[in-house]
Amino acid sequence: MKAPKVVGGVKLPDGKGQTIRLARGASLADFADKINTEASQLVQALFNLGEMVTATASVSDETLQLLGEEMNFKVEVVSPEDEDRELLESFDLQFGEDEGDEDDLERRPAVVSVMGHVDHGKTRLLDTIRHSNVGSGEAGGITQGIGAYQVEVEVEDKPRKITFLDTPGHEAFTAMRARGAKSTDIAVLVVAADDGVMPQTVEAINHAKAADIPIVVAVNKIDKEGASPEKIRGQLTEYGLVPEEYGGDTQFVDISAKQNINIDALLEAIVLTADLQLELFANPEMDAQGVAIEAHLDRGRGPVATILVQRGTLRVGDSIVVGDAHGRVRRMLDEYGNDVEEALPSRPVQVQGLDSVPGAGDSLLVVEDDRVARQIANQRNARKRNALQAKRKKRISLEDLDAVLKETQQLNLILKGDNAGSVEALEDSLLNIEVDDEVELNIIDRGVGAVTETNVTLAAASDAIIIGFNVRAEGKATELAHQEGVDIRYYTVIYDAINEVESALKGMLKPIYEEKEIGTAEIRQLFKASAVGLIAGCMVETGKVRRNATARLTRDGNVIAEKATIDSLRRGKDDATEVAAGYECGMVLSYPDIAVGDQIQVYEMVEVPRT
Ligand code: GDP
Repeated sequence: MKAPKVVGGVKLPDGKGQTIRLARGASLADFADKINTEASQLVQALFNLGEMVTATASVSDETLQLLGEEMNFKVEVVSPEDEDRELLESFDLQFGEDEGDEDDLERRPAVVSVMGHVDHGKTRLLDTIRHSNVGSGEAGGITQGIGAYQVEVEVEDKPRKITFLDTPGHEAFTAMRARGAKSTDIAVLVVAADDGVMPQTVEAINHAKAADIPIVVAVNKIDKEGASPEKIRGQLTEYGLVPEEYGGDTQFVDISAKQNINIDALLEAIVLTADLQLELFANPEMDAQGVAIEAHLDRGRGPVATILVQRGTLRVGDSIVVGDAHGRVRRMLDEYGNDVEEALPSRPVQVQGLDSVPGAGDSLLVVEDDRVARQIANQRNARKRNALQAKRKKRISLEDLDAVLKETQQLNLILKGDNAGSVEALEDSLLNIEVDDEVELNIIDRGVGAVTETNVTLAAASDAIIIGFNVRAEGKATELAHQEGVDIRYYTVIYDAINEVESALKGMLKPIYEEKEIGTAEIRQLFKASAVGLIAGCMVETGKVRRNATARLTRDGNVIAEKATIDSLRRGKDDATEVAAGYECGMVLSYPDIAVGDQIQVYEMVEVPRT
């Protein structure tokens, strides 16, 4: 075991091989606390190791470990998931497991997400299913957009239910998954029969595969001229989706979302896929657990969250914790706007009674009482703040510091959206934009609801652009933005937002220039002219030479002048702007020391587009 070093006069404590646990995103102050030393010692030590970090800033896993090693501590960095598991365990809780044994399990409906390329009919399909569902016995159909709904379909003479998540597209799906939420059992892939497999179709397939969930293919728009459902089947086979009729295990259903054709067959295919490929069971007799799929702040009702119950039964009056929000279920509404007293597994309900707006993908747990709910929420909240800090602060080493100060350009953004899911999806997509290291995207604030004066003030203070997704400015926010010169951009389509931000980021990059050779020439003779000095009589060998262009001179393979310019150019007695290969010309070069036999390489600097 190596002895703790004394680095630059700092005597570090000796861990003697002891293991300590630190939360991901911990600071040096946290570290110091754990090992009973002064934070300033660790700051100094790390500085000597080449990193400059303040005591309260979050540091990376590697840095914690590296520093630990120097002192003979074994540092175990605890992930947020581990930490949360431990937090729940300390209250004797566990998320994600059904209590009891097999006898306690009952079949639950499949939960479905609709994905596919833009304009292939995802939204229309969700609408059609919503409106054509008569099994429910509700007059007027589904009226409330709560982010999910349940429909009924008869399969083999039995009524079966399916839950649809109402946010089409794989971004929302993946954003939730990124938070560890497994909300979707089956993906319905919508492909327009008159268009075929497109980039987002492939993306959707990849996302579903990554989540390891089966796909049911809805071949849409078969009412359109030029629709070729067979072509779609062929194309998708290349992505491993082989139709049942060809011996594969993927159900393909030809539909028209617009004309309401074959929708029941699609629903049936979903149920059959669930029965054949999945085992969807849950224990309804336990404290409810679930996931928030949508949440927003309602002016009149306060925070409302749509919860998908995953196991157990959620009841009015239950004490709940959802992410870092907590409260008691005051009221539950279904997609028809009806009050419900309890919600069984796979049922989405809109819940009122939380103290704040949770995030999409946050888990819900029913707990013993309000006190436990509050304690869990508070601890998560504290952790979230630390983690956010860690995400924002980029570690800067001493070597980089100069470069960073000089080079880095920042694009600061504030995101506002109509619900937590869309804000998160947008944030995730934006953070995934890949550009050069020279520019950095910072999301300095995010939230649900209209663009407010507070948002504008923050934007003005930090040179940020505000992005409004499906929301507008309220009150005097627009006026204030004009005064302060704050740019507010509104979008209704995520892709548009991403594209524009991406171009903005690319626009911030300094242009890259590349040398492009335009011709070569050789000096064959020298003439002395008293007025202009030495004239090089040249033969243009390749390409062309151009007046005012830059030239590199080489003699016997050695560069003698890197950036000479061609100050004047003549063909015979006439001034020329260009002389092509195969012709003789006379040049006056800015570099005087020329000789017969010198090679002239003429080049220009062209801007190359960034990829
Ligand atoms: P999304 O971007 O995938 O959500 O696509 P939309 O649901 O917004 O549909 C895009 C366009 O295709 C809309 O104009 C729809 O009316 C149209 N559309 C959707 N399904 C069908 C269909 O089955 N047949 C026809 N002819 N048009 C459809």
